[in-house]
Amino acid sequence: MDVARRGFLRGRFRQVANVPRPPWALPHGAFEAACTRCDDCVKACPTRVIAKGDGGYPTLDFHQGECTFCGDCVTACKPAALAREADAAPWSLKAVISEGCIARQGVECRICGENCEVSAIRFRPTLGGISTPQLDDNVCTGCGACVAPCPVGAVSAVLPMETEQ
Ligand code: SF4
Ligand code: SF4
Ligand code: SF4
Repeated sequence: MDVARRGFLRGRFRQVANVPRPPWALPHGAFEAACTRCDDCVKACPTRVIAKGDGGYPTLDFHQGECTFCGDCVTACKPAALAREADAAPWSLKAVISEGCIARQGVECRICGENCEVSAIRFRPTLGGISTPQLDDNVCTGCGACVAPCPVGAVSAVLPMETEQ
């Protein structure tokens, strides 16, 4: 296989492997093998954060709401592609704040922090006087509650780089 094609396939694989799945999804590969693309998890989610994604597999969209970790999607998943084990983390999603954040450009805004129930976003004063958001990865649950309220779309919930394969 030539280098360009190998690079393309590797890029494609990384892209697919890094698609966020509903909480408590089986690992990449096992999930796609078990999921029948029935949409039962999409229909079961009360906050509508599960959407039909590439290939018909469920993915996440936090533009309408947040995950409350209610587990309804897991209960609805008959083939157990979503399988909740005791004390298992639902996922490795974390919020990320981009440079588009207006507070980082000198405009007062604390909306994302006000929407974070676990106080993972703290505001620290800068020399100019405007406080800017700082995210604590250790506290963030990746619930997505901070995504939709941001007035400039500067927040997203993404899988960390180390989970790419
Ligand atoms: S745990 Fe509940 S809120 Fe979160 S994706 Fe599943 S059904 Fe939706
Ligand atoms: S809501 Fe958006 S613009 Fe406002 S502080 Fe948070 S990231 Fe910045
Ligand atoms: S994703 Fe949830 S826990 Fe993380 S910063 Fe946003 S609101 Fe807070």
